[in-house]
Amino acid sequence: MGRNPDAPVLLLIDADEPARLRTEAALARRFGSDYSVRAAANPEDGLAMLEQLRDQRQDLALVAADLRLPGIDGIEFLRRAHGLHPHAFRLLLVAMDQYHTRVPFTELPTLRRATALGQIDVWTVKGWVTPEEWLYPHVQAALTAWTLANRPHFAVYRFVGDQWSSRSHEIRDLFSRNGVPFEFHPTDSEEGRALIHEFGIDVSHLPAAVRHDGTVLHDPRDTELAVSHGIQVTPSRTRYDVVVVGAGPAGLAAAVNAASEGLGTVVVEREAIGGQAGTSSLIRNYLGFQLGISGGELAHRAWEQAIFFGAELVFNSAEEARLANGDRVVGLRDSSDLRAPIVIIATGVTYRRLDAPGLDRLVGAGVFYGAATVEAPAMAGEDVYVVGGANSAGQAALHLAKFAAHVVLLVRGRSLRASMSEYLITQLEATPNIELRLQTRVVEGQGESRLERLKLEHIESGHRETVRAAGLFVLIGAEPHTQWLRPLLAADDHGFLLTGRDIPSKVWPLDRSPLPFETSAPGVFAAGDVRHGSVKRVAAAVGEGSVAIGSVHQYLAQPVAVSR
Ligand SMILES: Cc1cc2nc3c(=O)[nH]c(=O)nc-3n(C[C@H](O)[C@H](O)[C@H](O)COP(=O)(O)OP(=O)(O)OC[C@H]3O[C@@H](n4cnc5c(N)ncnc54)[C@H](O)[C@@H]3O)c2cc1C
Repeated sequence: MGRNPDAPVLLLIDADEPARLRTEAALARRFGSDYSVRAAANPEDGLAMLEQLRDQRQDLALVAADLRLPGIDGIEFLRRAHGLHPHAFRLLLVAMDQYHTRVPFTELPTLRRATALGQIDVWTVKGWVTPEEWLYPHVQAALTAWTLANRPHFAVYRFVGDQWSSRSHEIRDLFSRNGVPFEFHPTDSEEGRALIHEFGIDVSHLPAAVRHDGTVLHDPRDTELAVSHGIQVTPSRTRYDVVVVGAGPAGLAAAVNAASEGLGTVVVEREAIGGQAGTSSLIRNYLGFQLGISGGELAHRAWEQAIFFGAELVFNSAEEARLANGDRVVGLRDSSDLRAPIVIIATGVTYRRLDAPGLDRLVGAGVFYGAATVEAPAMAGEDVYVVGGANSAGQAALHLAKFAAHVVLLVRGRSLRASMSEYLITQLEATPNIELRLQTRVVEGQGESRLERLKLEHIESGHRETVRAAGLFVLIGAEPHTQWLRPLLAADDHGFLLTGRDIPSKVWPLDRSPLPFETSAPGVFAAGDVRHGSVKRVAAAVGEGSVAIGSVHQYLAQPVAVSR
């Protein structure tokens, strides 16, 4: 069914004929002009159709299967479909309960397991009355994601540069984390050569960016790119009610809550909206997103929410903090000052560097700190190593395993269980091209212009071996971004900011006690990962950023009496 037989296919497998006919008709009505909607009554016919589509090189955008099929179940069918069409979205259909009101709770363990093992992308109930409620939203979301990942779309910038230069990596990371559509073409590729020729690019100043209107920027700095993209890099005024430093989950939550309550709010961010969370391919433990949400999408929704309430976002770096004439002053990279009675520090943490010879000079050339999701496609068919035992390392390994031939997760400890969530461990164990190596560390990186080999050491035995490696992704430890705040704010031995009751009385200047989230400088608050004692999770950071605004209101209502 469908009006365009060459269009990407939506394939439905359901042995229950009345349900299949209704679903097929509903899909054809809504999506039939852009997609070819087809259906099969059993797994054999469905697999034959999938093989035929593969042989004819026709795109499959979505495959939907009923959980109950004759012979094999819908999950096994979708697993086989994935082998034939790895880019198609997989939708599992589940019949409603006997009262025809909701998903039968008895199926939940099956759905949970299939989701945890990455065997399905999404599930929904069948037997609905209106497809608008139950079917279309899931199908539309899947088709949007499929189109973005698999269809050419408008590239605002085209970059040309050396694939393995660290600046090329920084730019790819910056643009992908900020959600700017771009293409990157290595200098020695056909497209790269064509761009150099067409736009007269000076190859001694690479990477170069070609904006959609033909403007060329040679070896641009981040600020130049931001200005060229119309991003605000300087604040529109010097005084605000609240200055938030950092646009990770904590800073964005603080901005949404401050701005929605009428406080004039500016957020200063130096890299990308979403902070660490923005680099996560799928956050599965954030309330309300039962199938998970990409960190980038969560961050962009929060950013839109913040600017909708009137917060201003400035792409700049906070370099200095001081108190002057009753104001808190934040000095920016361009030497301008921001003044406000309230400052919220939400600068988060960054990954610790691996201290092994040969790695520093290969950063961006195969060695990456953080998840660097944008680099995963470049690892196709390669051997890749991930260092770290926390959830972030587990997620990075799973994402890389979609592209790389072999992913090895290196962990110093004897077990993952103390540091990683059980659902991620289950998923890692179920992914055939991921290998876990415990008690192992990297002692050297080797390669001329890019990473080629790693020397590994087994911690207990001391045994060393050299392995081929195209990528090393390091996600260990966490250092707070607080150097610029010393000595103004009291911190623990690791640099995390002390707040509320953790502040020693000898450094607290007022008669009243510090408010929750207030630092040792009254009127300066801290929220999220940067705070001593924080739980390093998205939900915790969002909670802290939101609740800190409660303390801000208390602060503004309370006269400040300096006692020392
Ligand atoms: C790959 C990965 C996957 C993760 N997955 C999960 C998950 O599934 N579930 C979960 O709960 N948690 C997860 N986490 C942890 C979670 O992302 C963090 O706990 C959360 O992002 C902390 O939020 P934050 O706002 O406190 O700090 P951050 O997210 O670190 O944001 C801080 C922001 O401040 C900016 N900044 C720093 N210094 C300055 C300055 N001087 N001037 C201007 N801006 C500055 C930074 O650029 C950054 O954008 C993951 C982390 C990573 C890295």
